[in-house]
Amino acid sequence: MKQLKNYIAGAWQQSKTTDYLEVINPATNALLAEVPLSLASELDQAATAASDAFTSWRRIPPTERIQYLFKLKTLLEEHREDLAKTITVECGKTLKESQGELQRAIENVEVACGIPTLMQGYNSEDISRGIDEIMIRQPLGVVGVIAPFNFPAMIPFWFFPYAIACGNTCIIKPSEKVPQTMEKIMELIDQTGLPAGVVNVVNGSKTVVDALLDHPTVKAISFVGSSPVAKYIYRRAAENGKRVQCQGGAKNPVVILPDADLEMTTRIVADSAFGCAGQRCLAASLAITVGSVKANFTDAIVDAAQQRVVGNGLEDGVQMGAVINQGSCDRIQSLIQTGIDEGGKPLVDGRNPQIPGYGQGSFVRPTLLQDIPLQGEVATTEIFGPVLGMIHADTLDDAIALVNQSRWGNMACLFTNSGAAARKFRYEAEAGNIGINIGVAAPMAFFPFSGWKESFYGDLHGQSQHAVEFFTQTKVVVERWPKEWSRQF
Ligand code: NAD
Repeated sequence: MKQLKNYIAGAWQQSKTTDYLEVINPATNALLAEVPLSLASELDQAATAASDAFTSWRRIPPTERIQYLFKLKTLLEEHREDLAKTITVECGKTLKESQGELQRAIENVEVACGIPTLMQGYNSEDISRGIDEIMIRQPLGVVGVIAPFNFPAMIPFWFFPYAIACGNTCIIKPSEKVPQTMEKIMELIDQTGLPAGVVNVVNGSKTVVDALLDHPTVKAISFVGSSPVAKYIYRRAAENGKRVQCQGGAKNPVVILPDADLEMTTRIVADSAFGCAGQRCLAASLAITVGSVKANFTDAIVDAAQQRVVGNGLEDGVQMGAVINQGSCDRIQSLIQTGIDEGGKPLVDGRNPQIPGYGQGSFVRPTLLQDIPLQGEVATTEIFGPVLGMIHADTLDDAIALVNQSRWGNMACLFTNSGAAARKFRYEAEAGNIGINIGVAAPMAFFPFSGWKESFYGDLHGQSQHAVEFFTQTKVVVERWPKEWSRQF
């Protein structure tokens, strides 16, 4: 069985660990590879390599640094199909979803290619007679990126292209559940001729993460994953004096008003709730119907849930793939039972589905639980599966109050034809990403990915100008040149 390697100081290295995890295709349960749970000493090696590389990398002009990113963009486009297939095979989502994910990754490379402009400082001449003041952005040094399983290609790209374009060097820790995608991406990065040590990949889990959080050479941590881990990482890295940004979990409400276009709304909400098998931090997981729309929307979404084609994401016509593994499948099914025990009505129950030819796969079909209690577990827990809870409100004000009582704040969406309602929702809803007649309000690469509340710990987010600010420190220079001054005054 293939054992994955780490990429340190410009070379692939076999880990010295004896501890390996199996990487599984969730649609078939086939064993794909083994991933090392690397040692803290291997993280230390990567940190040393990244630190050594930083000295010369930061001196390379930004206009030259981004040439590697232009090459990477071309390579990613050339290998798009192979990479998409790798994502689908280890992550379970459909090929179309994997292709979409890769496109988002590429767009972040494109934005990071604007670094010569994006990292410019500013200056004021004559803050006093003959004295000027200048603000310069400089890189931090070695930075760490810790990724979750659900977007193995896209999420590291919210961070590392900006980090290296700004002159930092970087260590990426991919999710141990889906490590093959980053292996393939690292092979492409290697082909760009990037100097050794600028990007390093160390596989593993908690031991490697903790070593990264504690390493004195590492100056900043970018994390995406579940909220409990986000909180832990935020605290531990901050205690060690590092700059930290941690994007966490979610429970995303979508509010449907009576004047919404029912056909479009149903299609979009179904895609949001069941796309990627509900394993998106921007998946709709709570539908709040308002007023008279309840009956019609319920009929339509029941139909959409029942019609969804579930199967191996590699096959044509499949609209929803497997969830990440059997453990996740069991957890989702047990939460559905909890929802029923709490009084929710299972309008569509997707447990224990028969997927012809894939009896060993980790599948849950779309599930709808109506009238779940507001304080119950299903309404408040991130299920991270294709389960849509449904609740009802009499007015838009009541619906917004329901949205705002949540401890999460990743995304909230409204479906309506009313500009006034949309404006009110945009103004009052407490979430960092808002959709108006949009079901997955994923910010483009030139906007920050703006979670709030327990969906985010930190201040600067991933992507865009936020990433540039996160990966640079400002230096202010106040200067006077006496001879120049005396000649003029
Ligand atoms: P996870 O928190 O289990 O793992 C994320 C990363 O943290 C992995 O690399 C893992 O190895 C590491 N990790 C896990 N437990 C750890 C521990 N105790 N100590 C140190 N490191 C640890 O998340 P996941 O299951 O891989 O991903 C799904 C989660 O990610 C969901 O909650 C989802 O909402 C969230 N997510 C959030 C966003 C966002 O932008 N807010 C985007 C994608 C995914």
